[in-house]
Amino acid sequence: MSNIFDTSIKFLPSVGERRALIIKNELKVETFGDLLRIYPYRYLDRTKIYNIRDISEDTTTFIQIKARVYNISDIGAGKSRRLDVMIQDSTGRAKLLWFSGVEWALKKLEVGREYIIFGKPTFFNGMISIAHPEIDIPMSADSLAKMSVYGIYPSTDKLNKAGLGTKFISTLIRNLWSVVSPYLKETLPQYLVKENDLISLKEALYNIHFPQSEEKLHKAEYRLKFEEFLTIQLSLLRQKDIRIKKNDGALFPILGEKFNNFYENHLPFSLTKAQQRVLKEIRRDTMNGHQMNRLLQGDVGSGKTIVAFISMLFAIDNNYQAAIMAPTEILAKQHFEFINSLADKIGLSVGLLTGSTKKKERRLLAEKLESGELNILIGTHALIEDSVQFKNLGMIIIDEQHRFGVKQRSRLWAKNSIPPHVLVMTATPIPRTLAMTLYGDLDISVIDELPPGRKPIKTLHFNDSRRLQVFGFMKEQIRLGRQVYIVYPLVKESEKLDYKSLEDGYDSITRAFPFPDYSTVIVHGQMKSADKNFGMTQFVDNKANIMVATTVIEVGVNVPNASIMIIESAERFGLSQLHQLRGRVGRGADQSFCILMSGDKLSTASRKRLKAMTETNDGFEISELDLELRGYGDLEGTQQSGNMFDLKIASIGKDTDILQLARVVSENILENDNDLIKEENKLLHDLVFNFKMGIEFDFSQIS
Ligand code: ADP
Ligand code: MG
Repeated sequence: MSNIFDTSIKFLPSVGERRALIIKNELKVETFGDLLRIYPYRYLDRTKIYNIRDISEDTTTFIQIKARVYNISDIGAGKSRRLDVMIQDSTGRAKLLWFSGVEWALKKLEVGREYIIFGKPTFFNGMISIAHPEIDIPMSADSLAKMSVYGIYPSTDKLNKAGLGTKFISTLIRNLWSVVSPYLKETLPQYLVKENDLISLKEALYNIHFPQSEEKLHKAEYRLKFEEFLTIQLSLLRQKDIRIKKNDGALFPILGEKFNNFYENHLPFSLTKAQQRVLKEIRRDTMNGHQMNRLLQGDVGSGKTIVAFISMLFAIDNNYQAAIMAPTEILAKQHFEFINSLADKIGLSVGLLTGSTKKKERRLLAEKLESGELNILIGTHALIEDSVQFKNLGMIIIDEQHRFGVKQRSRLWAKNSIPPHVLVMTATPIPRTLAMTLYGDLDISVIDELPPGRKPIKTLHFNDSRRLQVFGFMKEQIRLGRQVYIVYPLVKESEKLDYKSLEDGYDSITRAFPFPDYSTVIVHGQMKSADKNFGMTQFVDNKANIMVATTVIEVGVNVPNASIMIIESAERFGLSQLHQLRGRVGRGADQSFCILMSGDKLSTASRKRLKAMTETNDGFEISELDLELRGYGDLEGTQQSGNMFDLKIASIGKDTDILQLARVVSENILENDNDLIKEENKLLHDLVFNFKMGIEFDFSQIS
């Protein structure tokens, strides 16, 4: 069945193969449908004129002012020629700058005349400056045509360089609109539209791209957010219902020999009360005949791994196999080492499967898996490949779920005729009430207690100018035998600039900490995995004092002797990410430190994040604040990752009201029509089962 919304955007005027490819790579937009559903992440209100006085260092967006030119200086010649234009309105003064197009600007500008000026202000020596602004004469046809509200679309360096920035995308959508709008069908049943006072899909999509007024824009956002949350809620609630009704979970009635032996003779430390409680919850889940689908939240360092291991023993004692899936190879390896050392003591066999496992070894593993000789398999995404077949998989543990989509999770369920129990572990705590709503299909356990004897990590914030002092501190700590992480931001794996700053950082560290007095390793995602593992191992084995890295170490790595975490350009990280990074230290008996380095010009949001970090170690507090602060705009419109539902417009943190409403509405709908088969709910059925333009949500495998 062909559908106009599945048409490739390469067929749109001014696109073509090459541009379509860039857009696909950068924005994940391939079809007409995708393009309609890429929304502006903020809006530019060109109906509004700013007073110069109101521009502050926090004004990071484009703005429009109306001001009179009072001086023009044409400075320098040739390549260093520059035009400085002084302007003023009734509230203050500012400067406009041209480094190119000077002749053009000179022709257009006249001392004593008033202009509408549009650009992005920066502060330079206390002076507000705008480089290369747009200028128009007030009330001219041009200036009037521009008086409206514009959407600003997500963009990247590559897109901008290729001339495919926000203006291009906006024009593209405008062209597309005239072609496809007649085909656009309502996605929600009429009764829902009425009861919830929504506008139609067509009106909403039009206004989200080309707002006719602020009120219309607001209604458009509301409608689209509601629809997004409703789709998720309906799906989750149905999934939970199916799971409960199906009554076909593996049964682990026996607490057997392996568990008893381990618990009595080999437990490396006594478990915290919270760990014991969670184990009881898991045990109960595996004895009631339903498939377990449980989320285990526990702050970094709270001891989730041992809980995972003991849970696996429940399965193994009942003749089932167990598996752990980790988001990175390094983590999988570390889990393997820890778990293998424990399993060894009670005679269990453990395998490791990652992307770099050799063919021969792979074959061997496969044999042992299918014969049942292997009790535990630990690995990365490689685990969910169809070629991996177990004899009898009873329990699967997913570490750091935010890297795994719901879809991947459901693929695991098909690994056994009886679906295995699933435990999802995460260090990103979500406020409990929100979690109930959000993860409608999961039960929740919390480890709310750290193992005894941990010293709270001290977090400090320094400006770049105090780097020498930080180096001095590092030397002192290294002399005491400690190890240091230095982490650089990597907003996107493709960002060349970030790699440069990482490598420059590494150079300056090796200069300040020369070999052989000090040994420094570098680890990042683009290294060959052998090199990465070598660097990592050097550090884990305490053969390196300093590890310079990107966020590949963000999750899970455990080096108790490393007690200093230095985060470079900390203002560029999100709050949860900072907290995760900090969690890499504070794992041993020594006092640990987290040092946040930043430039001295910080936006209000960055300042709040860094301040929060220095004020609290509590993951729940952090996550609440993170949800509050988060949203679009932080990373110039590229969506923050870690969003397991691939939300395009709704924000879990900011739109909780709409989320709760969608929850209640979903419950009511399903109460009357559990399988969404009534005529009035036909559209909802389509939305949940075949939704193409939007959320990718696949649970067809299990229904
Ligand atoms: P996370 O929850 O972040 O995955 P880990 O499972 O890696 O935490 O545990 C962090 C560290 O604490 C590990 O070195 C682990 O061996 C140790 N640990 C876990 N539970 C306890 C406990 N009850 N008592 C003492 N140490 C513990
Ligand atoms: Mg962990």
